[in-house]
Amino acid sequence: MPTPSAGEVTIEHSAIGLNFIDTYHRTGLYPVPLPSGLGLEAAGTITALGEGVDTLQIGDRVAYMGPGKDGLGAYATRRVMPVAGLFKLPDDVPSDIAAAALLKAATVEGLVERCAKVQAGDWVLVHAAAGGVGLIMVQWLSAIGANIIATASTDAKLELAKNAGAHHTILSSAGDLPEQVKTITKGTGVSAVFDGVGKDTFAVSLDCLAPRGLLVSFGNASGPVEGVNLGILAQKGSVFVTRPTLGHYYATPEDAAAGIARVWEMIGSGKVKITIGATYPLTDAAAAHRDLAARKTTGSTILLP
Ligand code: NDP
Repeated sequence: MPTPSAGEVTIEHSAIGLNFIDTYHRTGLYPVPLPSGLGLEAAGTITALGEGVDTLQIGDRVAYMGPGKDGLGAYATRRVMPVAGLFKLPDDVPSDIAAAALLKAATVEGLVERCAKVQAGDWVLVHAAAGGVGLIMVQWLSAIGANIIATASTDAKLELAKNAGAHHTILSSAGDLPEQVKTITKGTGVSAVFDGVGKDTFAVSLDCLAPRGLLVSFGNASGPVEGVNLGILAQKGSVFVTRPTLGHYYATPEDAAAGIARVWEMIGSGKVKITIGATYPLTDAAAAHRDLAARKTTGSTILLP
């Protein structure tokens, strides 16, 4: 283990967050310089301080959701990280919940509140609603008073989405999703679609939108969306598409602090409950990746060192 340099601390990891993006890094869909570690997110306790670190102390619990100086590498028992990317955990947020929640809930905060700016009464569609991001998103949207239509691949997953606050649920294999959405919304369509599935759902998502609605295409679980003909946006109702990534919504320390404060508020108030659907020993990270990619997981998955 290196000792922490100025502005760095050593963290003993308590839990590591598994994210779908880890599979993109592993497969090369999102290229990383090799050789590389893996993992963006973990929570734990500070065990050593580098020079000049005065905002944190040994024993403080922190979490992070980005790369370190060494790039990816949250899949580790302990790690040296720059203080700048750390978030101190409130006393009422256990470390395993933080690892299960930080990146996913921050994503939801950025997408729902700052990207799509969903308002009470808006109709929204959430794909993969029983996944890690999905279950948090449905609860968040419910808390702010949106009308939620959720999709997932099995009845059991739809049940989870319903329990999280979805008002209507539709199997993703239904061949008539846009028709069902139009019926539910009395012919209008939804004002926003949150789509982390990508390739398989892009076209159908556009068909679910109200005129001038917004498709938030934020992930590629089924593969990347490619070869889009812009003219399609006019045909579908002068609709908008954005392909956001969290980094641009958490670009400044102030933006990040405000977003994370909102995340802790939603979790602390009980409006958003974090479901840890599965826990794997860190040594079984490969099995966790296989299960996530095979759609076998629900809610958040964590790895324990
Ligand atoms: P999930 O737990 O949501 O797992 C992915 C889910 O996608 C699966 O459970 C499955 O649900 C659905 N899915 C649909 N088609 C496929 C397929 N072909 N292969 C695998 N899964 C499929 O993962 P996360 O919560 O970690 O991430 C959700 C999405 O959010 C991902 O696309 C991720 O990249 C994105 N993301 C984007 C961020 C950003 O900044 N833009 C930040 C964080 C996450 P079902 O069986 O119900 O279809």
